[in-house]
This record gives sequence, structure tokens and C-alpha cells, in this order.
Amino acid sequence: MSAFVRFWGTRGSIPTPGHGTRRYGGNTSCVEIRFGDTLFICDGGTGLRELGLALLARNSEGIEAHMFFSHMHWDHIQGFPFFVPAYASKNQLHVYEVDKSDTRVQRLLHGQMRSEYFPVTFADLGAEISAAFFDNGAIEVDGVTIRCLEQTHPGKSYAYSFEKEGTKVVYATDSELDLLLSNRDECAEDLSALRRLPPELVRFAADADLLIADAQYTDREYPTRVGWGHARANTVVDFAVQAQVRKCALFHHDPMQVDEAVDEKVAEGRERAARAAGSLTVFGAREGLELKL
Ligand SMILES: [Zn+2]
Ligand SMILES: [Zn+2]
Repeated sequence: MSAFVRFWGTRGSIPTPGHGTRRYGGNTSCVEIRFGDTLFICDGGTGLRELGLALLARNSEGIEAHMFFSHMHWDHIQGFPFFVPAYASKNQLHVYEVDKSDTRVQRLLHGQMRSEYFPVTFADLGAEISAAFFDNGAIEVDGVTIRCLEQTHPGKSYAYSFEKEGTKVVYATDSELDLLLSNRDECAEDLSALRRLPPELVRFAADADLLIADAQYTDREYPTRVGWGHARANTVVDFAVQAQVRKCALFHHDPMQVDEAVDEKVAEGRERAARAAGSLTVFGAREGLELKL
């Protein structure tokens, strides 16, 4: 089974429109993943607005979308009130919750549309919006198995893997991998040492055709940002090498990184992957990029 992926927002933390970010884009996290006719949406950053418009242009019948939120920080939810398909009654949105005892995602989507923040309330949205729940970390939708894994991020976040008939896509943003290294001391002394990630994390991403991962910082930027919840791009490359994934998208670019800075970050990641001598392809996620897997 092949999968289709399109990046609608690749920026971390805050939208950064402007000349300097034209190529990789300034919209915050939003990725479209399709297996056949089944549409999955990862995160509702500002990129979600344009995805909504594209869905309407493609589809005059009803739209059905399965929506997964890594967590509820602004840069992952701000596009939701501007997601036009949410306003039409013929459309169906399934919003996934990891914890069965808490409809936290729905609650916070409601919250950001309170009248103090936004002119239209969640209750005024016309689409049929329902909560769906993971069961013991997994759920199946149209034959696609989706798994979730808690990550290290202030207030916590989740990674999701989507898998059907041998094709696997992993979405793992807002995760400070560097706090998890089993050989942190060695890595602090030697930046070129393989940064060893926990086995359960490596298993989660193992053999993915595509890993989309938070690679916000370079090795030079990170030391003054420890504890902010984001990973170094080179650590993501080592993660991808250990998980033996085929393609790795460096994602959630720092707002301070203009296109040339992202180019450098990607080039550094590619060199590191080449030194590992595997078959891993590393690239920078950019708005509008489409992949067939
Ligand atoms: Zn974020
Ligand atoms: Zn976050």
C-alpha cells in the first residue's frame, strides 16, 4: 500500500512569513498523510488553513478527516479556527485523544475559540466533530494501524505512527531527544559520537519509510535552549540511523532560521547520515513538498 504525504506547515513555535523563509515556509506544523482515500491530518498549526482550502477545492462532496494533535501548544492548534471544512455540516472530523479519561484535545480546541480569543465559538462549527480514542496506545482506521508514544516535551507531546501493508510513516514533533540519550556524557565531549536513543523509541520508528521529526536546533544553537522541548537535527539523524528508516524529514524549523540556515542544518545532517554509511535520505521539510511512499 502506498502513502501520500504533503507538508502544509513546517515551522516551529510561531509563524514566520517573509522573504527569508520563502522556500521552507513560515506556516506552523501541519502534515497531510493519505493511505488510499483515508485522510489523516497531523497537527493544526497555521498550515491547516491552506490544507482546508485545498480539500474544498478537491472535493465538493463531504470531507472526512482523522485529526491527530501532537500536543496543544499554539503552533499546533492555531490553524484550527481557520480550517474552513470545520464549518460545513456535510463534513466529518474525527479528533483523536490518547487518554480515554480525558477529552483534552477537544476541550482545548473549544478553549481557543472562546469569545475572548475568536469571534466564532466551537459550538457554532457546522461539521460533525467527534472524539475518538486510542486503546492501549493503538487504533485502526480503514486498515491503517496508528500507534502513539509519549515524548519528552514541556506538558508532554505524542508521536504517531501510521502503518498499512508494509508502508509506515512516523510523525514525531516537539520532542527533546537530547534529554534521552543513554550516552549523554560521551556525546557532550564528542559531538560526532552516535547519540544513543532509548530502545522503545527506536522500535517505535523502526523501518519507517518516512520519519518526520522535530529537528529545531543545530548543535551550536542547542546549548542555550536545553529544556525547551526540541531536538538537535544531528540527534534526529542518529535516531533515524538507529531506527533504520529510509527517509528522514527535518521538521519544526526554528523561527530564527532563514532558508539558508535551514539549508546548512540539512547539509550537516546529510553529512552525518553519509558517515553512518546507511541508505538514509535526509531532507528539510518544506511547505508544499509532496512525497509518494
Ligand atoms: Zn511546536
Ligand atoms: Zn510544543
